[in-house]
Amino acid sequence: MVGLQKPHVVVLAFPALGHSIPLLDLSRLVASQGLTVSYVTTPANVSRFQGFVVQAVNNGIDLRLVVLPTPPVEGLPEGRESIDLLPKASHGLIFALASKLQKPFNAWMECQFEQQGASAPVCIVYDTFMGWGRESAQKFKICCMEFNVSGAFGVSMLISTSRSVVTMEKEEKQGKECVVLSLDLPWPHRFERDEIAQDFFNIEDPTLDIVLKILQSISTGSSGLIFNTFEELEPAYVQHLRNLTGKPVWAIGPMLPPNYFNGAVCVRGKKADVAVDELVQWLDSQSESSVVYVSFGSQIFFTEQQIKALARGLEASLQPFIWAIKVTPSIETATSCNADLAREYLPEGFLERTKDRGVIIWGWAPQLLILSHPSVGALMSHCGWNSTLESITLGVPTVGWPMFGDQFFNLRLLAELGMGIQFCEHIPGIPEEEKVKEVLRLVLCDVKGNEMRARGQKLKKMARKAVEEGGSSKADVQAFASEMHKLLKMRQEG
Ligand code: UDP
Repeated sequence: MVGLQKPHVVVLAFPALGHSIPLLDLSRLVASQGLTVSYVTTPANVSRFQGFVVQAVNNGIDLRLVVLPTPPVEGLPEGRESIDLLPKASHGLIFALASKLQKPFNAWMECQFEQQGASAPVCIVYDTFMGWGRESAQKFKICCMEFNVSGAFGVSMLISTSRSVVTMEKEEKQGKECVVLSLDLPWPHRFERDEIAQDFFNIEDPTLDIVLKILQSISTGSSGLIFNTFEELEPAYVQHLRNLTGKPVWAIGPMLPPNYFNGAVCVRGKKADVAVDELVQWLDSQSESSVVYVSFGSQIFFTEQQIKALARGLEASLQPFIWAIKVTPSIETATSCNADLAREYLPEGFLERTKDRGVIIWGWAPQLLILSHPSVGALMSHCGWNSTLESITLGVPTVGWPMFGDQFFNLRLLAELGMGIQFCEHIPGIPEEEKVKEVLRLVLCDVKGNEMRARGQKLKKMARKAVEEGGSSKADVQAFASEMHKLLKMRQEG
């Protein structure tokens, strides 16, 4: 059988939906090149990913789930092994869990090498937040590649931020305080106070130290980097990361479901908390590009004041909306214990007054399905990279409220592409009713919005071309797969 075996790749994702969604997409994409891919997870997440894996397997793709036993973490309740199932104050428990997974992972790898021979993994693709993946690769003397959930521009800016202390400087010319990021970048970028994440200024915060160390070690010890982006979207920064790291950088995105560009119904991450058929009927009844889809990713939960403020702005805009509201899980129970309370957070009479033009989804929304509907003309978002890339590649402009990490940089990229406007900022921000109304009317009712969508259509075409045969992303996936074949051949030849 020697020579007929397939290269086997293992994928390690940090336990958060914004990580597991793209890394599952990556797993399917790589496996669809004729490779075996094992996606590593824990018992509480199996039910979330099983459907995705079964569908891939039914399509002839060799994608497997590896379920590691959950190591005990003090304070982490059973079955809550994902960031979205915990209040923000408890997120540290997931970092603790992630690092403790190395031991059961190494035990699984050992079995693979004992029992599988040449079918044992040839490469570990690890999430930047699962940095121990490179130590495991070293231990088993195999190759490893790093996947970062941000885009190339975002990562370039994050690396620069992590290597220089972020301080505000007075800019003589305009008399404004600003940050100029220039270290290790192709050219300097200037940010005003409200255009950069506050977390980078808080040097007392112990989690900042962890994050900075993670960022400073990007690409260290790996043989290459993989990004969910496409070369034509941010060419200077994909190239910049190649120059900076001296390693191959594969831009293989958008790594979206196969029928994504054909508007296929697609729910990812979790089961949608809405009747999808009814939602589509509602969307069908709205006029083209008139609806704003409001969603702040998988792990942002608003306070009463923020929900009230956003609701007032949406109401004042007079535009139709779909609003996915997530309520803070308590440490005691992961279920939406506060859904009733959150309903009370809305201004009095809001649901009644907006019932003809608004849909509220309490929980998980079928985001791709919504964004790909022609009635949707804008995304209101925190600018997480997945949502940013999804909106860019579906041609939908973003009105952004970046909160932390790379989100401010993602909005900067959107603005430079002519596809994004900021309306609020930071985790404790309270949006102004007038501002929300103004940006929504600009994007949904003004010629400027049409111009943004026209640019979006061009980007959509570019993205589609990149993933098709002969396109840049397709070529990079194929190059990655051929690298894996080389590794297997080397093993077989001893
Ligand atoms: N998502 C979804 N439904 C929701 C919220 C989010 O399908 O109600 C998906 C979204 O399409 C994206 C991911 O979850 O793929 C969120 O990733 P992102 O980077 O935007 O934000 P994060 O959750 O990491 O902050």
